Amino acid sequence: MPEKIILLNEQRDSVPAIPATLSPATGLLSDTLARPLHDLRISVTDRCNFRCVYCMPKEVFDKDYAYLPHKALLSFEEITRLATLFVAHGVEKIRLTGGEPLLRKDIERLVAMLAQLKTASGRPLDLTLTTNGALLARKAQSLRDAGLQRVTVSLDALDDATFKRMNDVDFAVDEVLGGIDAAHAAGLGPIKVNMVVKRGMNDDQILPMARHFRHSPHILRFIEYMDVGDSNGWNMADVIPSNEVVRRISAELPLEPLEANYSGETASRWRYVDGSGEIGLISSVTQAFCHDCTRARLSTEGKLYTCLFATRGHDLRALLRDGASDAELTGAIAQLWQARGDRYSETRTINTEGLAGGGKKVEMSYIGG
Ligand code: SAM
Repeated sequence: MPEKIILLNEQRDSVPAIPATLSPATGLLSDTLARPLHDLRISVTDRCNFRCVYCMPKEVFDKDYAYLPHKALLSFEEITRLATLFVAHGVEKIRLTGGEPLLRKDIERLVAMLAQLKTASGRPLDLTLTTNGALLARKAQSLRDAGLQRVTVSLDALDDATFKRMNDVDFAVDEVLGGIDAAHAAGLGPIKVNMVVKRGMNDDQILPMARHFRHSPHILRFIEYMDVGDSNGWNMADVIPSNEVVRRISAELPLEPLEANYSGETASRWRYVDGSGEIGLISSVTQAFCHDCTRARLSTEGKLYTCLFATRGHDLRALLRDGASDAELTGAIAQLWQARGDRYSETRTINTEGLAGGGKKVEMSYIGG
């Protein structure tokens, strides 16, 4: 059984330095591997109403688990202020996540604030949100009205018993399907549906999911089960490599590869040869894409992580609450990104202990998926 983790005490986080010379953002920042800063994922809560066995297993995230107290969370004003600075540095896409982002009270208000931002070149942001779909039927229209453009919905099975086994809170699959319909009706598309595939748990759902979403306007994406965090007891034997997913689907529904939409796209794209739609494959384990990873992550309490597999974050909240100016925060963010050299997924085979010389990897529910 995984050992209980108390994140806050175990992280070796640091307060970022403010550079001596402050320069304005140029909209173009590069890290040590020439990767620009393009996407920002913002975790708005570390809480979730599901207990997916591969993400927030019940044995760890039980009633005694120490979630962040409300005052530790970045306020909507703090999030928007930081997001504005990231956008000035070149971020064009913001994804709200968690935990379950629809659990954050008045999330529509944050969406409305972020929807006002314009990219460095003056275009609207690509503003999206990842959800388990449980509250989507209720919230789709108000999210759309607030300015959200689209959603990604996580759905690991169509078979109700399998789905309930995975979410571990007895949540019925029909309710998530209803949420997807409501999001579509509200215009929150194109909708991506993410399925994490775990061998022996839901891999028999690959074909039913493919059949179900073919001919629909939604894009189904298969995600390799990853070794994020330390609580899910990850084992390589549980991973179904993406090429196996393609093989299994193609045996019934022939597929052919498609070009990427843009450099840095996480999913590789395939289309059904008969023209009935496309799927995506996110292969962070077997075909790492660190070389063009352009994502920064802001945790629920305002720590910046430059890799999903990081063991430490950079405490932007400390700077914010200590009264740093926008110019100082801008300088600190630039310095952090310019020093970034993370490429965990490409090196995991030689360093399975994580980045920065071991230590506990941060949980996905805290950093944001
Ligand atoms: N609660 C929201 C949801 O369910 O979509 C957002 C947060 S969740 C952490 C984001 C995504 O991460 C989900 O699609 C989830 O399936 C995925 N995820 C979590 N743990 C994972 C793991 N070990 N490997 C691959 N994907 C994982």
